[in-house]
Amino acid sequence: MRAELIMVGTELLLGEIVDTNATFLASNLADLGIDVYYKSTVGDNLARLQEVLKRALERSDLVLISGGLGPTEDDLTREAVSLAAECPLQENGDVMRWIENRFLERYGSSTAMSPQNRKQALFPEGSEVIPNPVGTAPGFWLEKGDTIVVAFPGVARELRAMFSETVLPKLKELAAQEALVIRNLHFAGIGESSLAQLLEDLVAAQSNPTLALYASGGTVRARLAAKASSREEALQLIEPLEREIKRRTRDYFYGVDNQSLEEVVVKGFLERGLTLAVAESCTGGLIAHCLTNIPGSSGFFQRGYVVYTNQAKVQDLGVQPSTLERFSAYSPETAKEMAEGVRLRAQTHFGLAVTGIAGPGGGTADKPVGLAYIALAAEENTIVQRYFWKGTREQIKERVAGAALHLLWKTISEPQSD
Ligand code: ATP
Ligand code: MG
Repeated sequence: MRAELIMVGTELLLGEIVDTNATFLASNLADLGIDVYYKSTVGDNLARLQEVLKRALERSDLVLISGGLGPTEDDLTREAVSLAAECPLQENGDVMRWIENRFLERYGSSTAMSPQNRKQALFPEGSEVIPNPVGTAPGFWLEKGDTIVVAFPGVARELRAMFSETVLPKLKELAAQEALVIRNLHFAGIGESSLAQLLEDLVAAQSNPTLALYASGGTVRARLAAKASSREEALQLIEPLEREIKRRTRDYFYGVDNQSLEEVVVKGFLERGLTLAVAESCTGGLIAHCLTNIPGSSGFFQRGYVVYTNQAKVQDLGVQPSTLERFSAYSPETAKEMAEGVRLRAQTHFGLAVTGIAGPGGGTADKPVGLAYIALAAEENTIVQRYFWKGTREQIKERVAGAALHLLWKTISEPQSD
């Protein structure tokens, strides 16, 4: 099924409001496996709206419209649909009575209802009314030829309620004729472009299942989506691709679907009865924040230090002033002493430390912005890894934190992994 979104409102074109309705509708359609081919934004203008609608009726199976259903002069959606679909507007008696009652309740019998208010009881001939459980303007569902047109008011709360209560069940029924299975695989310790290189041929050859990569917050996600006439068949299509991706990305793959990296780390620590303390120099507490977002983290997370000055590294963690002088704060030697120091002070199984240059200033030729060292101290040994990323200060912080979580996960899951 080919869907199309039409977002109505001059304020959208002026950049005065953010088009959250489009995001909401598009993501819901994606979840249903309905492909969205076009999205247009059009102002409150009858001719242009009609023009956009005419093309949509020709090229799409499903057209979702947001906005322009209110009672005022510039609310033109019902008129435009009526003209484009050649379905004259008709008054719906039930809706009219409901509007009259609401008007009466609000203003009493001494105030007459204006024709503008009556407008909201008009629908293109053949429409089914979509009740609005949280506002006045009802929407409509119109089947014209091979195309379904659904109109919602622009108010986000109303659109969402109407979509969820009335439209979603109907679309589910339509989409059920085709099963869509989506599988998300998560990776850390590798950037989007490096992962894309590893999977280059698979991405190039994709058709069903489709394969796409998305990066966020220092991790990367591969989205596999297969369509078939049954769920089982779709799963069967996904399975070989998933296996091949996992085979190639052994060092970076950490979880599926809704699993986050911090979640698998926390779970791993708790299951193994291990404890952790962290010392952060370029992530400003982000690692501690990520870990403590997961319920139950106090069962393993002992404490965290945010140590930005040399003095703090010396006083709080016992880093040697001579190490800082000789190798600088951004060095494997300092990272190692930070990790060992925090572990010793907190008396934990592991001590994790990060130090690096998040920028934009402070970089030099041999210690550029984006350079970071991550150290993990255990009783027997300390691992130190060097990383280098380009990006904004915030992106670098996220990536260092992501890499640190990845190192934790790799370390604790090692004996169990195959
Ligand atoms: P109303 O009865 O309030 O006039 P309507 O169906 O005519 O509803 P619009 O007038 O287009 O809808 O928009 C009403 C309000 O809804 C806007 O002022 C805006 O705050 C919000 N809105 C409109 N379109 C969107 C959108 N695409 N995303 C998020 N909010 C929107
Ligand atoms: Mg309006």
